[in-house]
Amino acid sequence: MKHIFVTGGVVSSLGKGLTAASIGTLLENRGLKVTLQKFDPYLNVDPGTMSPFQHGEVYVLDDGAETDLDLGHYERFTGTKLTRFNNLTSGQVYQSVLDKERRGDYLGKTVQVIPHVTDEIQNRIREIGDKTGADVVITEIGGTIGDIEGLPFVEAIREFALGAGRGNVLFLHVTFVPFIKAAGELKTKPTQQGVAKLREIGITPDVLVCRCEKSLTKELRQKLSLFCNVPYEAVIEEIDVEHSIYEVPLMLQREGLDDLICERLGLKTKPADMAHWREIIRKLITPRHRVRIGVVGKYVELQDAYKSVYEAVIHGGVANDCGVEIERVDAEDIEENGAANALKGCSGILVPGGFGERGTEGKILAARFARENNIPYLGLCLGMQIATIEFARNVLKLEGAHSAEFDPGTAHPVIALLDEQQNVTDKGGTMRLGSQPCILKPDSLVTRLYGAEEIHERHRHRYEFNNAYREPFEAAGMMFSGTSPDGNLVEIVELTEHPFYVASQFHPEFKSKPNKPHPLFSGFIAAAHACDHAKTV
Ligand code: GLN
Repeated sequence: MKHIFVTGGVVSSLGKGLTAASIGTLLENRGLKVTLQKFDPYLNVDPGTMSPFQHGEVYVLDDGAETDLDLGHYERFTGTKLTRFNNLTSGQVYQSVLDKERRGDYLGKTVQVIPHVTDEIQNRIREIGDKTGADVVITEIGGTIGDIEGLPFVEAIREFALGAGRGNVLFLHVTFVPFIKAAGELKTKPTQQGVAKLREIGITPDVLVCRCEKSLTKELRQKLSLFCNVPYEAVIEEIDVEHSIYEVPLMLQREGLDDLICERLGLKTKPADMAHWREIIRKLITPRHRVRIGVVGKYVELQDAYKSVYEAVIHGGVANDCGVEIERVDAEDIEENGAANALKGCSGILVPGGFGERGTEGKILAARFARENNIPYLGLCLGMQIATIEFARNVLKLEGAHSAEFDPGTAHPVIALLDEQQNVTDKGGTMRLGSQPCILKPDSLVTRLYGAEEIHERHRHRYEFNNAYREPFEAAGMMFSGTSPDGNLVEIVELTEHPFYVASQFHPEFKSKPNKPHPLFSGFIAAAHACDHAKTV
């Protein structure tokens, strides 16, 4: 089993996760079985309790693990099945070490970062390999080299390499080569210093992936090679992509990165066949059609809060050879200026998941605007709850209808807490989480889209549609087109008299890939395009 360790230097937000995922794509297309894991040096047990301002999106796996959003990149770029074992935080490491200490497993020893914490981390590296039977395990270390909290992880991978032997481990360091405008030059000094920090710990990178705005000259590559002690051919350029993150694997392939990795790790394979991937890029760069989609949220100024949603919308575009322009609409802007103004020019409206009351009235106005004007609507989790609240208030005339989450005293709690959630007090890992089966109604739009009767989708929520209100909803034209197998939980609603008004209690965005766009997103973009088209002809 071979291991690639991906570290980052100089600054955060270099796209280490994308680089790791892209290497995964290339190796998989060479016929290798790959798995990817992320180490996060924070003390939270998982990111599920962190705000989007702190952490961006929480990505949910089939097994219900709430994980770092880089795992979303891993699943979108590769075919690997990830589980809760693919994301390790310092919090989990310490929890496990402290449990062992209390049990007396350390037999009277003083429990220390080295070797006990580092051993715990090394065990996880070994276990993930054994569990998945992968040819190559790609492990990304979160944070930046030099961070105090990341040290045990970096020390652990150094120790691991010592045991694994030469030729089985490759250290790949992603670094930043800034362009200094005033000097008109790319500068290598931050990289030199970042690599020096890594070498201080005892790791010399085998490969340097240089993130830069402009192309590296031969001289710069030579300089980086000399000062960082990395062979010239292992200085790889990863220039900012022009159109799409999905170009990264192709760029790294052009730089010869996958050839180099395979040579260093002694992996004999065919070259990566990226023809299908190139076709995806073609559709992304020169699509035949274009459409504008409004995504109504409360974290629209953040790059990462709705990451998987934005990606899935783009995949829906790929399925329709349609370029998608995403208009990030602030729900509070709708509250102030009205939906017609804020959503002007949008041929589809999407309301993603969320927690907390801020912005909900704006989202309700967006749902109403979509329903009344026959604009395609896709609601995800909170977006479904919003659709039902809007329908209750404005179609069924149930005054003050709301979710018990936002108005516990509402006369019409169309969205309410499940009995099993009533007495839950802990916040971490206690929602309805992970993949659950859902049965689709035969004559529904979603059955046509999925082409299946039973589907499995991922959840992350506490509140559910209140069954006491099913009858009036159905009588007025809202169809419960997906339910749990026992029929008790509403999973999908759709409006029968509307070109496309679909909303799910689950999060389909977590299962969409560029080469396998999710049917709800494909259908949504197709409907938005059809609507658009109708307007122009
Ligand atoms: N806040 C809602 C709930 O807990 C929706 C959650 C979500 O959108 N992920 O049910």
